[in-house]
Amino acid sequence: MSVKVLKFGGSSVADASQIRKIREIIEADAERRYVVVSAPGKRYSGDSKITDLLIMLKAVIDNNIPYEPLLAPLKERYTSIADELGIDANLDEEFDVLRKNLKAGCSGNYIVSRGEYLSARLIAAYLGYDFLDTKDLILFDNKGRLLADETNAALSAALSEHERAVLPGFYGSYASSGDICLFSRGGSDVTGSLVARAAGASVYENWTDVSGMLMADPRIVDNPLPIKNISYIELRELSYMGASVMHEDAVFPARLSDIPINIRNTNQPEDPGTVISNSDDCEDGSVISGIAGKPDFTVISIYKNMMNNEVGFVRRALAIVEDAGISFDHIPTGIDSLSMVIASSELEDKLDDILEAFRVQLKPDDISVENGIALIAVVGRRMNRTVGVSARICAALAAEGINIRMLNQGTGEINVIVGVEAPDFEKAVRAIYNEFVPARS
Ligand code: ASP
Repeated sequence: MSVKVLKFGGSSVADASQIRKIREIIEADAERRYVVVSAPGKRYSGDSKITDLLIMLKAVIDNNIPYEPLLAPLKERYTSIADELGIDANLDEEFDVLRKNLKAGCSGNYIVSRGEYLSARLIAAYLGYDFLDTKDLILFDNKGRLLADETNAALSAALSEHERAVLPGFYGSYASSGDICLFSRGGSDVTGSLVARAAGASVYENWTDVSGMLMADPRIVDNPLPIKNISYIELRELSYMGASVMHEDAVFPARLSDIPINIRNTNQPEDPGTVISNSDDCEDGSVISGIAGKPDFTVISIYKNMMNNEVGFVRRALAIVEDAGISFDHIPTGIDSLSMVIASSELEDKLDDILEAFRVQLKPDDISVENGIALIAVVGRRMNRTVGVSARICAALAAEGINIRMLNQGTGEINVIVGVEAPDFEKAVRAIYNEFVPARS
């Protein structure tokens, strides 16, 4: 029987009524055998995520403030879920263990990981599935970097002993010491992907509170169309430019094993959501898959007569940026000019030092700096078979009176990057969207 791995995010396990929904989803398909869960998230706006409460608990302990007043509401949150679901999840015992470990001076990572741990314990009891702790199955080196092969081997071996299991997301342990190590926030997405790889899953279903990705930011474009299919590379391009739907590191394990990721909505399980895969399925949809952008880039332009004859000029310019620990986004070049497009947040207090280094080491004729440039990525794997995509982008922007400050299309032809002035950003996104997506009546 093929296996489906499901991951449910914080809003999907926030309270008993959400957990009832996830049981219906899991039980609707016998192939849904491995379930990764987050810690309970917010039930309403203004509510607290369990992970945030645990981070607060850790801070209180670090500052030698009595922590008992924070433990009570934590326990109450889990107890009320268990009571409403009519299950016994041994919460008294679990909290006794936690108290004992707190007294013994357990690590901050251990404290924060308890959100997922207790969530998985409780949901395993409710579903009648085995509980499988990820502590010794997801392994990190001493610097907190995932040990992908060791993790895959440990997870595969453990999964093969359980027909059905619930696993906590977000944490594993240091291979050397066995102490708990966390992914960065939102890391249960990564756990789900690792479990999908280890299980050889036919699909990794990532259940959240939206019905997949949208073709553009709904705060900019009214009611944008959902994306049905998207490739891993397109997803990477769109996420990089701010269209985030999952933890960045969650794509890699699934992609490595060619497992499609299906983003689904726990509150609307009938919606097909977005499928992220290697498939080149183009039977429907627009020539573009999505549009994303960020409004705050700085462009540093360096001019030097006969620059194209000076061997090593670009290397020296890039070494200056590298030494300052800055990562750049684009470097459009001309015969006597070189521009660097850099996220303004990267530059902050380093700009003056870099300009000085450019002047001293490159001896340019002129340097200019321009802030407030927005970059828009128009992404689509079908572009490379289509004539006129850039022409349509340019025409759509011209029709709105928007000046294009930069235009960049890589030879991979997976995207076109357009630079416009920040005040034109949203208008430009709408103009491009309307050009490629037929209006709905
Ligand atoms: N609970 C963790 C967080 O809030 C991890 C996760 O939900 O993915 O970031």
